[in-house]
Amino acid sequence: MLDLNILAEQTVDMPEAPYHARHFIDGVFADSADGRTSERVSPSHGIVVSQAALGSEAETEAAIRSARAAFDDGRWSGLSGKDRAVILNKVADLIEASEERLAVIETLESGKPISQSRGECGGAADLWRYAASLARTMHGDSHNTLGEDILGVVLKEPIGVVSIITPWNFPFWILSQKLPFALAAGCTCVVKPSEVTPSTTAMLGEMLAEAGLPAGVCNIVLGYGDPVGSLMSTHRDVDMVSFTGSTAVGKRITKSAGDTLKKVALELGGKNPQVIFPDANLDDAADAVTFGVHFNVGQCCNSSSRIIVHEDIADEFVARVVALSRKVVFGNPMHPDTQVGAIVTEEHRSKIDGYVNDAVAAGAEVCLGGGVLDVPGLGNQFYQPTVVRGVTPDMPIVREEVFGPVLTVLTFRDFEEAVALANDSTYGLSAGVWSENVHTCLAFSRKAQAGTVWTNTWMDGFPELAFGGMKESGQGREIGRYGFEEFLEVKSLVMRIGRTRA
Ligand code: NAD
Repeated sequence: MLDLNILAEQTVDMPEAPYHARHFIDGVFADSADGRTSERVSPSHGIVVSQAALGSEAETEAAIRSARAAFDDGRWSGLSGKDRAVILNKVADLIEASEERLAVIETLESGKPISQSRGECGGAADLWRYAASLARTMHGDSHNTLGEDILGVVLKEPIGVVSIITPWNFPFWILSQKLPFALAAGCTCVVKPSEVTPSTTAMLGEMLAEAGLPAGVCNIVLGYGDPVGSLMSTHRDVDMVSFTGSTAVGKRITKSAGDTLKKVALELGGKNPQVIFPDANLDDAADAVTFGVHFNVGQCCNSSSRIIVHEDIADEFVARVVALSRKVVFGNPMHPDTQVGAIVTEEHRSKIDGYVNDAVAAGAEVCLGGGVLDVPGLGNQFYQPTVVRGVTPDMPIVREEVFGPVLTVLTFRDFEEAVALANDSTYGLSAGVWSENVHTCLAFSRKAQAGTVWTNTWMDGFPELAFGGMKESGQGREIGRYGFEEFLEVKSLVMRIGRTRA
């Protein structure tokens, strides 16, 4: 019998009826013209959580047309940064006031624990406030050393119409890493959430309208990658695509956007190493590793799923992680104490199981878990906390995103080998280093091929910093000053003025 911490009961109230998610186009909420809808069934509770309009090319065309007109007539970009900031701050207030409503539906659509949905949805208000502050800081530079009758000015302008396409794992947070920054820059937008988790994005549409965002500045189209997402990536009237999702779809979008040479910013997958040196604080490291692989049911681009630990401490470290993993509270996502909920879809749960079974067949050893988990009263759409040793760097479980509560353990002998193993990946999203020696930490941070390197911590995030990946984890950055700049175009003005000679 597997000794795990499973919580079946629930204390959070269920919604009275499924949420009806509609498109938001040109300031109007509407179903699809052809009446098509999709139903999202909760992976944990088996009930219909939402009924969402399913967009076609007609809705997508209308949304792009609306965003184009709103950009071209300057109804948004023509406002001062101060006025744009007022509206973005109002949206932040509304998000905070709606935290529970958003969190309940996010949890039921995705399966993630309610405490994490509350943090994701309510916490996103801070991204909106930070982006609002940036709206007042759009500036380039001036050059007065080009000749005495010449003034050169480099201006920053909004890039134009931005298509924003988001995944199912953090629907509200990822939207908030993009949309307020694009709006702060003066862009207009067309947004498409994942068909798996459409509701919190549709709810945001209600808040945008209530906050007074002019019609057409942000349009939301619900539906599948094809045709909605693909038209958003190829349409001539779109100037930029900001995409978060799988590397495979990111590559497809980059190719199809190439025909119109629109800018493409990509936040893609990760296979993130955490390197544990022998002098690390093992309590802190084991705690962070356990948190990092279970957060969001392991369905996280920043999952710390690839542990690289010094061979002298590997047995002790694995024992600590196994002990801590047994204490993690798995079960009903509608209880505030639950830390790991349901896997998003049955298909994805089978994929996770497939990675573990294939690794075992290839000689790996499962130290904990390694199978589907049944939660009394909720069924088996859950996966056990899983720790796998005896893996080799070439196994798919080590190289590919498993996207579940599954940890693999590799060992190293010296610093060079640790760096080589950490960088032996097509991905380069994030990496972690654990050591009490600052020189080791800094040396590793400089060598790591990753957009974020955490030292003696994991997944600490701040809106002021930059987030994004190297290699096949993406291109461009989100949040912070760098994220804001992605939505800006650069224009040089050369003015021959102020002649002093007769
Ligand atoms: P996905 O690539 O399947 O889908 C993402 C979005 O793209 C969805 O809205 C989908 O409908 C849309 N889409 C699908 N095909 C399309 C097409 N041909 N053209 C345009 N749009 C299309 O990803 P997912 O399964 O929803 O999310 C999980 C993936 O997202 C993982 O790989 C994860 O690592 C990644 N992710 C990355 C980050 C990051 O910041 N780097 C954050 C979260 C998730």
